[in-house]
Amino acid sequence: MLHLPQRTHDDKNYLDTPKPSSLFRKPRLSWKKLIAISLFIMFSFAFTVRKGFLGRLQSFNLPPPFRCGLHTQKDLGGLQTHYTLPSGSKIPSLALGVWRAPKDKTVPAVKTALDSGYRHIDGAWIYRNEEEVGQALKESNVKREDVWLTSKLWNNFHAPEDIEPALDDSLKKLGTDYLDLYIIHWPLAVPKDEKPANYNKNLTANPYPTWQKLEEMVEKGKVRNIGVSNFNIRRLQNLTANPLKVQPAVNQVEISFWFPQVEMLEFSKKMGILLEAYSPLGSAERVEQSLNVPEVKQVAKDLGMTPAQVLISWHIQRGTVVLPKSITPSRVIENIQLRKLPESAFEKIENAARAHKPQRGSNPSHNWGLDFDIFE
Ligand code: NAP
Repeated sequence: MLHLPQRTHDDKNYLDTPKPSSLFRKPRLSWKKLIAISLFIMFSFAFTVRKGFLGRLQSFNLPPPFRCGLHTQKDLGGLQTHYTLPSGSKIPSLALGVWRAPKDKTVPAVKTALDSGYRHIDGAWIYRNEEEVGQALKESNVKREDVWLTSKLWNNFHAPEDIEPALDDSLKKLGTDYLDLYIIHWPLAVPKDEKPANYNKNLTANPYPTWQKLEEMVEKGKVRNIGVSNFNIRRLQNLTANPLKVQPAVNQVEISFWFPQVEMLEFSKKMGILLEAYSPLGSAERVEQSLNVPEVKQVAKDLGMTPAQVLISWHIQRGTVVLPKSITPSRVIENIQLRKLPESAFEKIENAARAHKPQRGSNPSHNWGLDFDIFE
């Protein structure tokens, strides 16, 4: 409520003042105040939209200054919504993962995600649904530049001459001319059209030539950030011992309640490499077990959240990007309704995750017929 000074008939000047316009006769509102109030309303509205309280409004193509900023993501209940990479890019802390999302379920899942405020899709060439991710983005009301798109270089394309064609294929399928993040999917270089067992020993042991080509893709503007996935500490140290022009921005690795990656988390923080948590709910094979962990259930009950929301929030609170996958629209929406856990609740989950023996969910070394363990 605005309290303007009331003038009395004793105020001589009042009688002398020229007659105000009929619109603002009593009390008098100066044009300066009017402009100030309009600006205040305008910026409060823009701020509200940016913060995502009116999440759905984000899907409208609003004119500036109301348009949402780059990769604006729904408010995550006090959790960090973005991390800043060395390039200055701001990567949203939550993504929809699309591994094992069948083609016909990918479009609705991605559209639901974009509608409900996700601004980050974690895909890969090998998931064979990049066209569907691109279609969903095109059919949504969200602009390309407002969404963070990640894709991954498959094992068969590590040879420098194979990288640009593989990247171009992903770009074409996604319907875009740049990726926000391109990562080496596995530390395994397999010649084109060869089986994993016939991997290239030199390029696998020393992926610097692959990395140099990726750096070139950054220079060309086809990719904004580059990173790795499934690299252990030794492999990261080995790669970064080279005179890199661009440091790996992220390492996407399995992190879950069952495999909390404590050492990798500490190492990455020191190195300034952001971790991305894949299979954060324990993947399809262990999701039910994850959601039934007594500590997770108790925290969920205490806070009026679902166990999935507790686990996803816990991941972000540990300082990683989190990539839950779902093709079920109600779960896609559930998985973005997050909240910062109180310190005691966070500690409860963290201690429980550290209390058991770490158990990795997936290791393809055997299925690929490798003569070594890819995680060593
Ligand atoms: P995840 O996200 O831990 O779990 C996915 C499973 O959880 C699906 O079965 C899903 O079912 C279910 N689910 C999701 N939300 C749920 C909820 N609120 N309540 C109950 N169930 C729920 O596992 P992930 O798919 O292994 O990993 C996630 C993403 O990480 C992948 O999509 C991919 O983007 C990435 N990833 C990367 C690598 C790599 O090598 N870089 C490896 C694995 C994964 P529905 O889909 O049926 O709803």
